[in-house]
Amino acid sequence: MKVIKIGGGCLKGRKEIGQIVDLIAARGQGHVFVVSALNGVTDFLIESMRLALEGEDSIPKVISRLQAKHMNVARHLISHRKRLKAFSQDLNKSLTKLERLYYGLNFTKEMTPRIQDVICSFGERFSAQLLGAIMRDCGLRAGYHMPHKIGLVTDGKYGDATVNFVKTQRNFKKYLAPILNEKSVTFIPGFFGASEDGDITTFGRGGSDYSAAVVAAGLAAEILEIWKDVDGFMSADPKMVPEAQLIPILSYEEAAELAYFGAKILHPRTVEPVRSKKIKIAIKNTVNPDATGSIIKARSPRPKSVIKSVSYDTDIGIIKVHASGVGARLGFLALVASSLTECGINIKSVVTSQTCISLLLAQKDLEAGHAALSAIKPRPFRRLEILNDVALVSIVGDGLIHKKGIAARCFTAVSNCNVNVEMISFGPSRAALYFLTKVKDLHSAVNAIHSTFFATPRCS
Ligand code: ASP
Ligand code: MG
Repeated sequence: MKVIKIGGGCLKGRKEIGQIVDLIAARGQGHVFVVSALNGVTDFLIESMRLALEGEDSIPKVISRLQAKHMNVARHLISHRKRLKAFSQDLNKSLTKLERLYYGLNFTKEMTPRIQDVICSFGERFSAQLLGAIMRDCGLRAGYHMPHKIGLVTDGKYGDATVNFVKTQRNFKKYLAPILNEKSVTFIPGFFGASEDGDITTFGRGGSDYSAAVVAAGLAAEILEIWKDVDGFMSADPKMVPEAQLIPILSYEEAAELAYFGAKILHPRTVEPVRSKKIKIAIKNTVNPDATGSIIKARSPRPKSVIKSVSYDTDIGIIKVHASGVGARLGFLALVASSLTECGINIKSVVTSQTCISLLLAQKDLEAGHAALSAIKPRPFRRLEILNDVALVSIVGDGLIHKKGIAARCFTAVSNCNVNVEMISFGPSRAALYFLTKVKDLHSAVNAIHSTFFATPRCS
């Protein structure tokens, strides 16, 4: 049995969904599909929360737009009137729940993380309901199961939950495995689960990949396929480097590094659940389903240059904490880190020297991070500084840490293009080297490195 994840990018309009439906009909029997919301629906649900806070008049419009969006597809792809009616009733039940939540939001005027997560989870619920109904109309046995009904248990952290895998696996054995069938197609909404107290909790944006990996591991699937609208991992972002090539095989480590910083192909945590079970991940382009795409597995062949990809992340900023003797002061890093953690701010990475700690944060967290550190009493540092015109470049390849001359080649290429390296981090991973440049230099730096490791040198 396979677990297949269908991304929101493949669920755009009637035409694209029609293609996906044909693919499921041809290859889906006996497999489990973890689905994203239709394209744009999660953004719309989030945006509508703001509208609902401002005034309740917007709520009926929001609900009817969601209804129209899903019914449009259903009318096009479900031909039996009775089945269409059944779907419409099923959809309306979910819409009524959602409508109540929006009114609740308006009434309480409180946008808590809890209500945000429940509301966000509806996009995936609708798409699982829709695809289930369409497949039944195609004459297949198909059904959907909500994650909280099959025991997908999370740690309850809103917006960034982690799965309690031991409990989830036990629940899947009990509630999910017995209802799977070789002849039927099963849909599960991605993106969320429920805490032990029953609170709906999401895995962060793009989190359906992680859900799919949890389902694959929990059911010991033969493979996890991720159906997307791209071929797979590339040696660089093709928008920035036109000669970028597809990477046919990656190791778990390489894929995790690439997903974490830069390449937005997979949710960063997708590898975690499947890795220990050695379940392979295959990225498949739904427009080109017979192409090999990228395969992620325990071992990957090592190219001569070792490097598989150069990627980048512009959603990054730095807070520099200047203080003397940082390296010798017991507990200093812990103090800084815990004051950020208490404010719910995630530290993407840290680089320290004797006089300065550089904290890499997401752009959105910079101001709040600065405020949190400024509030520490007594003030343990000399000065704080924010840098936000920087981008993080990473080169990724298993074994990079042991191969001589990689860093030298990388930085020679960069300096030959007159680009200054702002900061280097080497060592936290066996498979990646990171450094920072100014955003304005990013294009030159990435192209120079790509040319060095993949083709003839060229400065752009
Ligand atoms: N629908 C959610 C999002 O847009 C989760 C996902 O698509 O994976 O972030
Ligand atoms: Mg998505």
